[in-house]
Amino acid sequence: MHCPFCGANDTKVIDSRLVAEGDQVRRRRECLASGCGERFTTFETAELVLPRLIKSDGSRQPFDEEKLRAGMQRALEKRPVSVERLEAALVHIKHKLRATGEREVKSLVVGELVMGELQKLDEVAYIRFASVYRRFQDLNEFREEIDRLAREPVKP
Ligand SMILES: [Zn+2]
Repeated sequence: MHCPFCGANDTKVIDSRLVAEGDQVRRRRECLASGCGERFTTFETAELVLPRLIKSDGSRQPFDEEKLRAGMQRALEKRPVSVERLEAALVHIKHKLRATGEREVKSLVVGELVMGELQKLDEVAYIRFASVYRRFQDLNEFREEIDRLAREPVKP
């Protein structure tokens, strides 16, 4: 981020907060160039604010909304869930990721958020996703998850 006063690109974030219902982040920055030290405000849009994902092997990846949508669509295939509800679920997930305020989160966190949303949308889709995502060790474990769901019906 270049300083608008002197053009130096050595600036420091001194304050950061979500605005516009979490779609933007407002940052106060301070120029670190000697003799400048001016402060200025930037507004960054949601795409820039979404944290990068830390994979289980430690590698980092940018958040990929298309990939996430495709994964959820696969779980929701032939299920009675409208595109609108899927899109709303994606908005919830992105909102929660932004609200962490972190620059990087474990991809595991995203998986848990997806499962939370799918559970509200459709239990079959949830089980499909969870069975892949959690790589159930055996059929008993899968069975236990189904039993658990049967015991704790999700409130609409
Ligand atoms: Zn400056």
